Amino acid sequence: MVRTFGCQMNEHDSERIAGLLEHDGLEPVADEGLADVVVLNTCCIRENADMKLYGTLGTLKKWKDADPNRQIVVAGCLAQKDRESVRTRAPWVDVVMGTHNVHRAAELLHQSSESGGVTEILDEAIVDDYALFPSALPVRRETSYRSWVTIQIGCDNTCAYCIVPAVRGKEISRPIDDVLGEVRSLAAGGVTEIFLLGQNVNSYGRDLALASRRAGDDTVRIAPQFAALLREVGAVPGVRRVRYMSPHPKDMREDTLLAMAETAAVCEHLHYPLQAGSDRVLAAMHRGYTAERYLDRLAEARRTIPDLAVTTDIIVGFPGETEGDFQRTMEVAAAAEFDSAYLFIFSPREGTAAAAMVDDFCDPAEVGERYERLKVVLDRSAVLKHRGRIGRIEEVVVEGNSKRNPAHLTGRTRQNKLVHFSSDEQLRVGTYARVEIVDAARFHLAGRFVEVTALPVHRTRIAVTSA
Ligand code: SF4
Repeated sequence: MVRTFGCQMNEHDSERIAGLLEHDGLEPVADEGLADVVVLNTCCIRENADMKLYGTLGTLKKWKDADPNRQIVVAGCLAQKDRESVRTRAPWVDVVMGTHNVHRAAELLHQSSESGGVTEILDEAIVDDYALFPSALPVRRETSYRSWVTIQIGCDNTCAYCIVPAVRGKEISRPIDDVLGEVRSLAAGGVTEIFLLGQNVNSYGRDLALASRRAGDDTVRIAPQFAALLREVGAVPGVRRVRYMSPHPKDMREDTLLAMAETAAVCEHLHYPLQAGSDRVLAAMHRGYTAERYLDRLAEARRTIPDLAVTTDIIVGFPGETEGDFQRTMEVAAAAEFDSAYLFIFSPREGTAAAAMVDDFCDPAEVGERYERLKVVLDRSAVLKHRGRIGRIEEVVVEGNSKRNPAHLTGRTRQNKLVHFSSDEQLRVGTYARVEIVDAARFHLAGRFVEVTALPVHRTRIAVTSA
């Protein structure tokens, strides 16, 4: 059983760990009571991650005491950062492994069966090792039609609140042919939606050209660019949708917007993290752009890509944020008219620059109140955006039965909007269908089925014949 506590990168790592363990003979189970191995894949970006981890480990101690052959693995970026304290605070953990050791999950479990607790943390990814981008490793995907594809790991930026550069290391891009090879093989297996993952996708490729020049090798003279990658991934036969996350507003370039507009498979959705609307706070965060530049780029994106949905991340209560700074965030958020936003209350992550700004920490009550005020602005634009879609016919990919009403189905539009819709036909997961939008709420749209546009590709049976 693999439990994930974090972001998409973390979920993708979980799929790899699950795939490796299945390959090694384990079967997935949903109930912990039936499991022999529990893997906790941690994330230190999320709030109170350590409290959650140690709380869970406390519960798992009883589970392990009931049968000492059971094994617990702690993986992910919290394990990478707090390697010693995991061992000290929870000595019953069998394996502690870091973000660069995913490929070793099965071996480390065997090692710990033979010789007791194992801790293995690599401080850096090993370039040229298949550990870096283990496309060759087995993966247990949660959905049949969609797959994450890692194009880059690490980050060269220094956002003051973020622990990612410390736990994931410097930016390393995956060679374009390797990415395309994985995408082709996924598409051949029936995957129709590709989700490209990186911490700062707009800078994809910069390191490849640099590394090649340093090695005196001229084969990669010009950095492969993200725009080119988008076009090539979108051109792979069988790929109907391409998404990506996350771009950095300071590095967003015109060629990426054009690639999005001109590549039919690339979805009209841009996750564009604002973080704050005050230039003073943006500078303190080391974000590298002003609010004006952010809004200008956003306007350009909307001009270039028709029907673009825009989502964002905003942090409320960054150290030193005044009421005036917050007002500016409200203004910029209102002007940006986001489709939806992830709103976070600042919480210090040990080891980051912002965690040391203790004297400037904001009053929690004031921050809570700001959060509620900003939420009103964001909710208003989200509802307006959703209402604007009523009466339209949208293509969705079917995700399954609706959790709100099991008689209905749920699908996702190209703009990444959730649609609960009625249908007389039971459509299989992965089917593409046109749906008429009849109603809208804050978090979803309601619709009715119109017609199927593409059936899911299932390649599970083969016929062997001899001539
Ligand atoms: S761009 Fe900033 S927020 Fe994003 S991963 Fe890098 S340091 Fe963190």
